[in-house]
Amino acid sequence: MNKEEFIRVYPNELNSNMLINFDIFNESGNIVKKKGEIIDAGFLLKINFLKIYKKSQSTFNSAALDDLLISEYNQNLIKTAVQNNKGIFLIVCPEKSGKSLIMNSLIINLKEDGFSTAIINNSDIENTFGIKHFNIATLNNERILETVEIVLSSKEQVIGIDDIDAPSIINRLFELEPNDKIIFLTITASSSFETLTKLENIVDKSLISKKLNGIFFQKLIPVLCSDCKEQYQSDFDELNKIFKCDQDDKLKLFNPKGCPVCGNKGYFSVLGIHEFLKVSDEIKEIIENSNNINDIKNIAYESGFQDMKLDCLKKILCGLISLSQYNETL
Ligand SMILES: [Zn+2]
Repeated sequence: MNKEEFIRVYPNELNSNMLINFDIFNESGNIVKKKGEIIDAGFLLKINFLKIYKKSQSTFNSAALDDLLISEYNQNLIKTAVQNNKGIFLIVCPEKSGKSLIMNSLIINLKEDGFSTAIINNSDIENTFGIKHFNIATLNNERILETVEIVLSSKEQVIGIDDIDAPSIINRLFELEPNDKIIFLTITASSSFETLTKLENIVDKSLISKKLNGIFFQKLIPVLCSDCKEQYQSDFDELNKIFKCDQDDKLKLFNPKGCPVCGNKGYFSVLGIHEFLKVSDEIKEIIENSNNINDIKNIAYESGFQDMKLDCLKKILCGLISLSQYNETL
């Protein structure tokens, strides 16, 4: 039995007459009780003298989109975009900011909506949830490209491509994209708009404008510790300066304080702030002609683009982030 795949179950996790929702294994790795069976008193007595195990949680890294604190607005925007436009969507984050988690979660979400799905990445997935999985960790670029070609010509409707940064492969992916699939490609960059500049150095502008349909961006911000955050009365002046809105009310915001739970930091964990840039026909035209980022920004904001600052504001008003964090990180 490979102990890394299993974790010990202790008798106090089980009650008699309980319906178990996992398989129980003995030390030899054989199933002694099946998921869905009822635990009886005799079994409980017996296992007090035995070591029993259940399989460890899958190493597949995904979470519900709500749990990632992606706002309903952004969830709807990206879901509508991917369901109405086949093509390439970029999942963009700075280094180590959770782009694999977002991509996997989007794929699981679409899988649950009935799409057939595949993932190419360089990590093991123990339980694939019915998603086709291709691990490229040990492959050279030539073999990676072969894998990409195989998956692109397969019948899967949604394909997630993670952990690929060789420009030649990204370029080829844009060339090969068959127009009848939803493709998520993860990219490391510090903003949606910067991504377009970065991409221009890898892929021909006319290909970008033809194939790219959207950019989903996440940045991570420390979350206020809910055990010690302190409410204070702020006035809108402070927010107006940042967000250029026009209000004169007072409102309650939160500051960090520090307690044993958060190690006196005042912050506990991080959350994502997001923006989704839909690559509209107008934006495609600018990309093809000049890829002038200021022109793209103007068009995006004119057509209602909600940037990460606005998402951050919403999360400040919800008491999740402090205004000082906003000032430091955006
Ligand atoms: Zn605290």
